[in-house]
Amino acid sequence: MKHALAGFYSCYDNRVSTSSESTTPDAVAQDSDSSRVHRFRTAFLDRDGVINRKLPEGEYVSSWQRFVLLPGTAQAIARLNREGLRVVVVTNQRGIALGKYTAEAVREIHNNFQRELADHGAHVDAFYFCPHDRNQCDCRKPLPGMFLQAQRDFPDIHPSTSCMIGDSLSDIEFGRALGLFTVFIAGDPLHRKPGAEKAIQMADSVVENLPDAVRLMLA
Ligand SMILES: [Mg+2]
Ligand SMILES: [Zn+2]
Repeated sequence: MKHALAGFYSCYDNRVSTSSESTTPDAVAQDSDSSRVHRFRTAFLDRDGVINRKLPEGEYVSSWQRFVLLPGTAQAIARLNREGLRVVVVTNQRGIALGKYTAEAVREIHNNFQRELADHGAHVDAFYFCPHDRNQCDCRKPLPGMFLQAQRDFPDIHPSTSCMIGDSLSDIEFGRALGLFTVFIAGDPLHRKPGAEKAIQMADSVVENLPDAVRLMLA
């Protein structure tokens, strides 16, 4: 691994600086919605099942070839960018601990994803992933480590202006424990995961997919 586990929280920061920082003012100036003030400043997004297709239980998104974007993902993230929200991906990647793929492979997937987003004028501000197995760390959702790491990197992040969008009960528990607004992506009722019913009850809002979640965030 390129980076040794360091610090109390062992999640990896794959923050990518983009050229959009210099181009954003022009882009915003052309956007008729730019003067609107949104309740949310930061959107925390789970990855598998929200951004890209979740594979069947026991299979892993181990390479870029297995990373298949869900419909409307790039456009939805572009919209968050345009409206001035920070976009942060927080993803449990237990497959690393299980030896199914490496942390380097995850970084490569995220770099490729960032390049694909750039083709749509979109970007993710930071990626965090937990490479650990259960009960071994403070960063595997629903534990708060990845949020706290993001808050260290972006000190203006505040729970009251942040939302968590995810398709697992652990995403909703993570968001709730931190005081974030939570949005559960329920997806196809035939393929709901264990815990989905509890997540539906617990979440502040339930939608079908990321584009709908973004519409809700910006409403
Ligand atoms: Mg997920
Ligand atoms: Zn962890």
